[in-house]
Amino acid sequence: MKPFDYARTIRPSEAVGLVASRSRDEAAFIAGGTELTNLMKDGVLAPSLVVDVGELPLSGIELRDGRLRVGATARMREVADHPVVRERFPAISEALLASASPQVRNRATIGGNLMQRTRCGYYRDVGSPCNLREPGSGCAAIGGQNRRHAILGGSDHCIAVHPSDLAVALSALDAVVLTLGPDGRRSIALKDFHLLPGATPHRETALRHGEMITGVEVPESPVAPTSRYLKLRDRASFEFAVVSVAAALTLRGRMVTDIRLAFGGIAPRPWRSYAAEDALRGRPLKDATVAAAGRALVRDAKPREHNAFKVELVQRALADILNDLEGNRNNLEGNR
Ligand code: SF4
Repeated sequence: MKPFDYARTIRPSEAVGLVASRSRDEAAFIAGGTELTNLMKDGVLAPSLVVDVGELPLSGIELRDGRLRVGATARMREVADHPVVRERFPAISEALLASASPQVRNRATIGGNLMQRTRCGYYRDVGSPCNLREPGSGCAAIGGQNRRHAILGGSDHCIAVHPSDLAVALSALDAVVLTLGPDGRRSIALKDFHLLPGATPHRETALRHGEMITGVEVPESPVAPTSRYLKLRDRASFEFAVVSVAAALTLRGRMVTDIRLAFGGIAPRPWRSYAAEDALRGRPLKDATVAAAGRALVRDAKPREHNAFKVELVQRALADILNDLEGNRNNLEGNR
């Protein structure tokens, strides 16, 4: 690993100033350390300054004025276990508990989770061409092993998928990312936070140089307490999603009055599908409408050599989670 300077502060503005004082690739924030240290050991990233923000006073979890506020340095386990999160925003808790391992969840932070890098093997292999790691070098995945890669939202420059389970749940629940940068504070809708690769896959998020995540906010809504997260993966633990879905809905009888759908494992960012939602909202929840929503979801899919199976798998995941949500609702009504 390349030698680097280390700084630690408990003042957010000082952390921002330190990172902003170096050029973009020369400084990095670190908190739980479960991601950056691996990338530095592998030679994928080599900042000359690492600024430790793990002890910043940004670890609160509270429901206030109709919004769940989670600080950037709150640990994944704390958020997953928080009673308000479990009861009012269960998809967030389920997504976190489906992530990583207990050891990692004890260390890793909410901000770091949203900033984690793709698990594309070529990105982490410095001997392979990769436009994300080294702009202009090419994309080894497009003509290579691409079973885990995107079927939606990719480009001729990158087809990596975003690995965060949490981000999928937050996208479905209309979360906002709160930031602090050299120019002050900003709020960025989660759906706009992770960028599609286009011709610049190395620009992964909407963050500006020196800007850091300070927290996330999730609005309370009638659908949020119904939310669920379903993750399909190659093994039962410590594994990233092949396909995942976060869903929430309200029903009047069998009529869908509101619905939120976001997907993971299929795109370079959490994939909120308004087309699939529109295919169900205001319509009865039945096989035909669920199938229509699935078709709307994958209408623009562009599968690659090894991942065409995701086109069907993600539609099955959608049908499964909607079936579960309807079953839960019926059980609740039956218990009244
Ligand atoms: Fe790099 Fe993206 Fe291609 Fe993977 S898919 S090799 S991350 S450019």
